[in-house]
Amino acid sequence: MNYDVVVIGGGIVGSAITHKLSTYDIEIALIEKEPDLCEGISKANSAIIHTGFDAPAGSLEAEVISHANKLWPDIIKNHQLAFEKRGAVMVATSEEEKHIILDKYIMNAKANGVDVKWIGKEEILKNNPAVTREIIGGLFIEGESIIDPWEAVYKFAEVAEQNGAAILLNKEVKQIKSSAQHFTLIIKNGEEIKSKYIINAAGLYSDAIASMIGDNSFTITPRKGQFIVTKDKVDIKNIILPVPSAKSKGKLITPAVFKGHLLGPTAEDIDDKADRSTTEEGFKEIRKECARLIPVSINYTSVKQYAGLRAVCSEDDYIIRKSVVNPRMIHAAGIRSTGLSASPGIAAYVAEVLIADDASIKKKEQWKAELPQQMNTQTDDNEIICLTRNITKGEIREVLQKSVSPANLDGIKRRTTALLGECQGSCCIPKIIDIMEEFHSDGDPVKSVQDSFIGYKI
Ligand SMILES: Cc1cc2nc3c(=O)[nH]c(=O)nc-3n(C[C@H](O)[C@H](O)[C@H](O)COP(=O)(O)OP(=O)(O)OC[C@H]3O[C@@H](n4cnc5c(N)ncnc54)[C@H](O)[C@@H]3O)c2cc1C
Repeated sequence: MNYDVVVIGGGIVGSAITHKLSTYDIEIALIEKEPDLCEGISKANSAIIHTGFDAPAGSLEAEVISHANKLWPDIIKNHQLAFEKRGAVMVATSEEEKHIILDKYIMNAKANGVDVKWIGKEEILKNNPAVTREIIGGLFIEGESIIDPWEAVYKFAEVAEQNGAAILLNKEVKQIKSSAQHFTLIIKNGEEIKSKYIINAAGLYSDAIASMIGDNSFTITPRKGQFIVTKDKVDIKNIILPVPSAKSKGKLITPAVFKGHLLGPTAEDIDDKADRSTTEEGFKEIRKECARLIPVSINYTSVKQYAGLRAVCSEDDYIIRKSVVNPRMIHAAGIRSTGLSASPGIAAYVAEVLIADDASIKKKEQWKAELPQQMNTQTDDNEIICLTRNITKGEIREVLQKSVSPANLDGIKRRTTALLGECQGSCCIPKIIDIMEEFHSDGDPVKSVQDSFIGYKI
């Protein structure tokens, strides 16, 4: 197979880049090692679209988040993404925290062109009665919003695919050979894929991809963030943030678009890029720190815990640049805590770098900005399968019919939100597997049922 551009990595960054590049008149492929998209960092985060109020002023991160915020409204409309503009409050519980907000965050937000204002205790408590009475005021960031982070990845890829991009799953890049004209990517199964350009969007493994061409200019290490999900009533309208520490934004409490609330994340530097385990210590730490913001949260029931891994980079800022070894590899790496928010901005930036390098890359005369049409329907589509979230058979069939379709139960959960209720799928798993069998009729039914459990954690 020969492409003009291969994007390595089917997370939010790679999908957004593929989506953007699919509007150009080039042959493009998105390559992902897992059997589905959104299996890396992008599957576990706080699901907040940040304004960039706290991104270091003058950084590339601040620049691309700012640009992304201009692009999101059209993307949300065209891709029909679940999105709520909630606003966030960074709460101050001491004069010291108030000064950090006034001296640091208000100045920084102004430099980044983000609207923020100091608001008093009464105003915060009016919208967020659950917040501690110990507060003395806080910073209101109106534009902070919540989104379905998984749908964002899938829909970028679906729209890209209908514009001609190839989405290639189960293709782990093991080796890259460079010649004067092109790269040859050697896939785990021995297959070879040629491409003139490579966009390195491999998240935690972007340093490994760079080193495959001898570029050891940066390293990526994992920083774990554990979360608790609660379905208890949390009386807040806004996202509630602490004043951050030097290491992380701190533990927040945020509504989720799937209903329920997220508490966390922790910030633990670890060695293993595959360690997404949750721990009793993490659970206790989240409870303790969130109770400073919302005292009753100490008693919230956790219906689920999960962990994500931030890609901490040896450089302070995002790395979006040509490789120092071969300029036909462009890195989109070190995208640490804000990659979901920044993704359309990163994609636009990458496209600019590419076009500046190759004037022959032209915009297509026509491309589709919206999602593909609805799928086939059947008479029993209205049968409710997930009782807690009212998900129908038709909704599950619809995602299974898509060209970028789920490979297992986890993929169904992320696309339909079935299995996300308090019961965590205890009632609907058998029914969902039956529906999956309709789409695996030519395979071994026992194997496909087993496969559907792979990677699925209740
Ligand atoms: C705890 C936590 C909270 C966060 N909260 C937010 C938030 O609220 N808002 C926000 O904007 N951001 C948030 N983020 C950051 C955001 O989630 C990340 O910046 C973003 O998901 C990074 O996406 P990515 O595409 O770069 O990486 P990934 O999603 O990891 O994608 C990279 C892909 O590359 C694939 N890959 C790797 N190696 C190979 C190979 N050799 N061959 C083929 N494929 C390969 C991987 O399988 C993976 O799917 C948070 C992150 C964490 C961990």
